[in-house]
Amino acid sequence: MYRPLWIEIDLNALRGNFKTIKSSLAKDVKVIATIKQQAYGHGLIPIARELSYLGVDYFGVGSLEEAISLRENGFKEKILALSAILPCFAEEVLQYNIVPTVGEINFAKALNKTAAKHNKIIAVHVKVDTGMGRLGLHYDEALGLIGELSKLKNISLEGLYTHFPAADTDPDFTNYQINLFNRLITILKNANISFKYQHCANSLGVIHYPHSHFNLVRPGLILYGIKPSPRMPLDLRPVLSLKSKIIFTKKIKKGMSVSYGRTFVAKKSINVATVSIGYADGYPWSLANNAKIIIKDKFFNLIGRVCMDHIMVNLGDESCVKIADEVILIGKKNNLAISAEDVASWAKTIPYEIVSRLSLKIPRLYKNASQKQLHFLKEKF
Ligand SMILES: *Cc1c(COP(=O)(O)O)cnc(C)c1O
Repeated sequence: MYRPLWIEIDLNALRGNFKTIKSSLAKDVKVIATIKQQAYGHGLIPIARELSYLGVDYFGVGSLEEAISLRENGFKEKILALSAILPCFAEEVLQYNIVPTVGEINFAKALNKTAAKHNKIIAVHVKVDTGMGRLGLHYDEALGLIGELSKLKNISLEGLYTHFPAADTDPDFTNYQINLFNRLITILKNANISFKYQHCANSLGVIHYPHSHFNLVRPGLILYGIKPSPRMPLDLRPVLSLKSKIIFTKKIKKGMSVSYGRTFVAKKSINVATVSIGYADGYPWSLANNAKIIIKDKFFNLIGRVCMDHIMVNLGDESCVKIADEVILIGKKNNLAISAEDVASWAKTIPYEIVSRLSLKIPRLYKNASQKQLHFLKEKF
């Protein structure tokens, strides 16, 4: 590692968060660990492995690529593909034993045909749109379409689910969605169609809507110890830290400017440090003149614009900060902390975007892995 920029992943924190989430659920509620987009930037395989050792029930992934990667790494858990898969990939769904999300009839027919050809049954989860306006059967047409799906002999309807767009800001709408979902379950039951699993709850559902748990929940963000909204009754610990080093320091005089656009002009003589991270690494350009970092035991301010692979920091009069000193961009040092939520609010975005966009080129160092995982990490990461 020549460039001093890395991510530390605390697998002990992940284990703690998973156990905390599990213990907040009723006994019969199972968990789909949502690990799409490289486990929100934390690294798909090591995160999945740790969760697997903890006995997670199900994995939720975004793409078929991620699902196949789990299978190729030997995972035997059930895998729900949360996104829509193109009908031309029905063969892969069967081959890798993936549970696809079904939201329209043509994909279901393609799956049914493939399964029939191989004399197999493909289990699917049917997604109903109760207000997200993205994937899934239109609520009003759900009864008719699910009736049609139930007639396809080589697919089995294992799950029924929906998704919340505004569980943080709009409890009335979220409760309305839960009611719609309940009503659909009853209507289907009366038509003799039932599902092994019904699920709605993302992280916010897990925390704030216990009546949305049904018998399966799909937490993502809270697994990684990040809060989807400020109100957080669960005791979670951040899993990810982002660290770099100072690669240059200089004194600049009053009136001199720092970085592109000359948006920062020194009002007096100051020491400036250059840190090895930039927007190409996923550190947002929108943080210009508006972020803190930790060096030694102090907060310092980012000054000027974020460059492609550099940022500059105002050291003020501080002269004991040196080249090769460690810099914390996200993480904790003694009693100082910068969370992904902090960086998101400075960058005017959401913590989901901060962690999931951290470049995959940044090495991930896995700490506190369980004994079982250690040899894998030595081999591959
Ligand atoms: C990403 C995702 C989740 C997890 O959401 P969090 O807010 O991270 O808990 C759950 N369900 C679906 C369908 C998703 O796409």
